[in-house]
Amino acid sequence: MDFLPIFLNIRDQPCLVVGGGEVAARKTALLLRAGGRVTVLAPALSTAFDGYLAEGKITHRAANFHGEDVADYALVIAATNDDAVNRAVADSAKARRIPVNVVDQPALCSFIMPSIIDRSPVIVAVSSGGASPVLARLLRARLESLVPAGYGRLATLVASFRNHVKARFQPVERRRFWERVLQGPIAELVFSGRDSDARAALQATLDDTRLTLDSGEVYLVGGGPGDPDLLTFRALRLMQQADVVVYDRLVSPAVLNLVRLEAERIYAGKERAKHALPQEDINHLLVRLAKQGKRVVRLKGGDPFIFGRGGEEIATLAAEGIPFQVVPGITAAAGCASYAGIPLTHRDYSQSVVFVTGHLQDGSMNLNWQALAQPRQTVVFYMGLHGVDILCQQLIAHGLPASTPAALIQQGTTPQQRVLTGDLTTLADIVNKGNVKAPTLIIVGEVVRLRDKLKWFEPVP
Ligand code: SAH
Repeated sequence: MDFLPIFLNIRDQPCLVVGGGEVAARKTALLLRAGGRVTVLAPALSTAFDGYLAEGKITHRAANFHGEDVADYALVIAATNDDAVNRAVADSAKARRIPVNVVDQPALCSFIMPSIIDRSPVIVAVSSGGASPVLARLLRARLESLVPAGYGRLATLVASFRNHVKARFQPVERRRFWERVLQGPIAELVFSGRDSDARAALQATLDDTRLTLDSGEVYLVGGGPGDPDLLTFRALRLMQQADVVVYDRLVSPAVLNLVRLEAERIYAGKERAKHALPQEDINHLLVRLAKQGKRVVRLKGGDPFIFGRGGEEIATLAAEGIPFQVVPGITAAAGCASYAGIPLTHRDYSQSVVFVTGHLQDGSMNLNWQALAQPRQTVVFYMGLHGVDILCQQLIAHGLPASTPAALIQQGTTPQQRVLTGDLTTLADIVNKGNVKAPTLIIVGEVVRLRDKLKWFEPVP
C-alpha cells in the first residue's frame, strides 16, 4: 500500500487553495462541501469563482504566492499552471508538516485525492495511487451504479437508531441485527423512497421481544475451481458475513482470502487418503458450530453437489433442524474446460457430457465402462489422476479408439494452470513424466482437439 486512505475532518478548518483557474475552483467546491473555510490565493480569479464570491463563501487574497502564506492552514492545495509556484507551495507546506496536494503531480503531494461516490454520510473513495486516474474514474463509475442512491438516507436512518440498538443487543447480536436491517426489506423501503415506513418497521423490529438472533445457520458454498472471479455474488456476500469458515484443501487461497477477515478458519482437509477430518466429524462440527449461534460457511471447491459430499453434510443439518442454504459454484469441469479452451459439447464432435469420479476404491474403479465408452460423448473424470492408466485401458477395452484425444488440466483456472494433451495410449505416460499433481481433471473426447484453436488462457508461469 503506497498511501494510507483516511477521511479528514476539515469542518470549519482554514484551507488554502493557491490558483485562480477552473481546476482551483473545482477543488474549492470540494473543500466547501466538506465544510472547510476556504481562502483562495491568486492575483486574479476566473469567473468560476463568481458565485462563491457573491455568496461570501470564500476569502480571496489577490496576491502572488510567498512561502509563509501557508502558515496556519490545516490543508493546502496547489492548483496553478506554474510548476515553480506549485513546487514552492508543496515545499513550504511540507516544511511545516501541513498536508498538501498539488493537482495532477503525485510526486509533490503529501496526500492525493480519490475519485468519490458521495452518498453522504456514506462516501466511497477510489484511488489508483496516482498510477492511472482514468482507471480510478472508470472504477468509480461502475461502483456508482452499484451503490443505491438511497444509501445515504439509509445510513442516516440507521444512525438515529444506533443507541437504541446498542442498549438492546450484545456486539455479535448487534452486528447480526444490523445486517438483517441493511440487507432486508427495511433497506428496500428506504431505496424505494419510503423512509417513514422504513423507520416504523425498524422501530417495530426493535420492539419485538420475541426477536431471536441467536440461531446459527450453515451456508454450503461452492467456491468454484480457483479463480476468485468465478464466485457468485451470493457466495461472496455470505462469505463476507461468516463467523466461521470450514474449508477444504481444494479451496484456493485467493478464494479463501475473500472470507470476512475476522472469521475463524477451520481446515477440514480432504486430501486423498489423508482426510484431515473424517466426513462424520465434519458433519458434526457444522452442527456444533451452528448450535453455538454462529454463521458457518462450509466452503467447498467447485460445486457442493458435484462430488462434494454436500448432500451428506446437509442431511445431518436437516436432521438436527439447523437452517441452511446451498450456494452453487462453478464445478471443475466447467471451469477447467473453459480455461483450457475445450468445449464440453460441440455440434460436430460431442452431444453429451458425463461427469464421473475416477477415485480408486481398493485399487480399482467400479464404473459402467460400456456407458462411458460411447462415441460422440465427452467424459470428464474427477479424482482420476491415480487411476489414469486403468481408465485409459478400460475405455479402449470397451471400444473407444486408442487415438481418442484426452487432456489433463492441473489447477485449472488458477495462475498455476497446466494443460497437457495426448490420447488414450499416451496419457498415463504424460502423467508420470510430467509430474502431474492433484487437483487434476481429465477430459476424454474429440472435443479436446479444439483446444489448439480455442485456447485463450495461458498464465505466465
Ligand atoms: N466439488 C468439486 C469436485 C470435488 S472432487 C467440483 O465441483 O469441482 C475433487 C476433484 O475435482 C479433483 O480431484 C480434481 O479432479 C477436480 N478439481 C477440482 N478443482 C480443480 C481444479 N482447479 N483443477 C483441476 N481439477 C480440479
